[in-house]
Amino acid sequence: MAELIFRTGTMDAGKSTLALQTNHNHAARGRRGRLFTSHDRAGTAMVSSRLGLVADAEEVAPDFDFWRYTVDALTRGARIDYVICDEAQFYTAEQIDQLAKVVDELQIDVFCFGILTDFRTRLFPGSARLVELADRTEVLQVEALCWCGKRATHNARTENGVMVTEGEVIVVGDVDAADHPPAAVDDVEVAYEVLCRQHHRRGMTAARARAVSLSPEPLPFT
Ligand SMILES: [Zn+2]
Repeated sequence: MAELIFRTGTMDAGKSTLALQTNHNHAARGRRGRLFTSHDRAGTAMVSSRLGLVADAEEVAPDFDFWRYTVDALTRGARIDYVICDEAQFYTAEQIDQLAKVVDELQIDVFCFGILTDFRTRLFPGSARLVELADRTEVLQVEALCWCGKRATHNARTENGVMVTEGEVIVVGDVDAADHPPAAVDDVEVAYEVLCRQHHRRGMTAARARAVSLSPEPLPFT
């Protein structure tokens, strides 16, 4: 029986690495798959991981139809045993419904990888629909850590170094500023950082914690 599987974690949890590893494992067993992504950090139509792995993928625009794409490909004689969907949090709820139909009606395994919640701690629409529909939702075992050493469960967005909790949901940036400079949008440098819930609630990023610890006067927690 084919399955719809959702593997989720915070931004640093190695989801794209696992997506590429999953693709490799299935391809090595002679299975044929298709790779999809949306707003990948490397640019459109690529799945890239922080460890340097890269693969070509189809870009999922908001009007992309997984059901029509798959039926068309099969009709043309293509073989598809599995589908890998990276950055699935950015897909529409409708597209997740199409993926469930691909699993049920065409017996194709679908592996989705994505972040559960956005920087405001709200579920992404694609992730919410995946939690509702997936045969299995797995939280990745490679755990990202907050600067305090606790398990990082939330994604924080910073603009010019200051944590924000309002704004457009989709602004692509990266957690690793060393490899990928922050995305500049209208002269605002957008970056991401993974935090534990307590430090996300307090808006206490690593930089702010450092500033507080160096400050002669203790700053009040807000
Ligand atoms: Zn923390």
